[in-house]
Amino acid sequence: MTDCIFCKIADGRIPANIVGRNDAAVAFRDLNPQAPTHVLVIPTMHLSGMAEMTTDESERAVARTLRLARDIAAELGLAENGYRLVINTGRDGGQSVFHLHVHLLAGRRLAWPPG
Ligand code: AMP
Repeated sequence: MTDCIFCKIADGRIPANIVGRNDAAVAFRDLNPQAPTHVLVIPTMHLSGMAEMTTDESERAVARTLRLARDIAAELGLAENGYRLVINTGRDGGQSVFHLHVHLLAGRRLAWPPG
């Protein structure tokens, strides 16, 4: 999508600190980290949010995105102590960028419930 910042990161039009990719997703460091490790994992296909996960292709893209999140967590040595995956959705969910993304947060004991 032309004006989507995360599409631009996915296809290299704007720089990001990329930490990994698979055939359908890309992972990069969040600009404003909320934990010692804060990575965003996105499908390369543009989906504005969970509501657009309506086809086999988009379901696969989200599954591959979660797979990449798990793989990056393992590669960064986070699997043993654990981590949190979050998909903020819509206004009340705190979504500010309308390209579906998974936050991978780790490196400290995360509070529950979230604020
Ligand atoms: P959300 O509020 O769930 O939509 O999360 C959007 C996230 O994107 C925030 O944590 C921002 O810090 C992050 N973000 C926005 N622009 C960039 C960027 N150019 N590179 C990396 N992270 C970004």
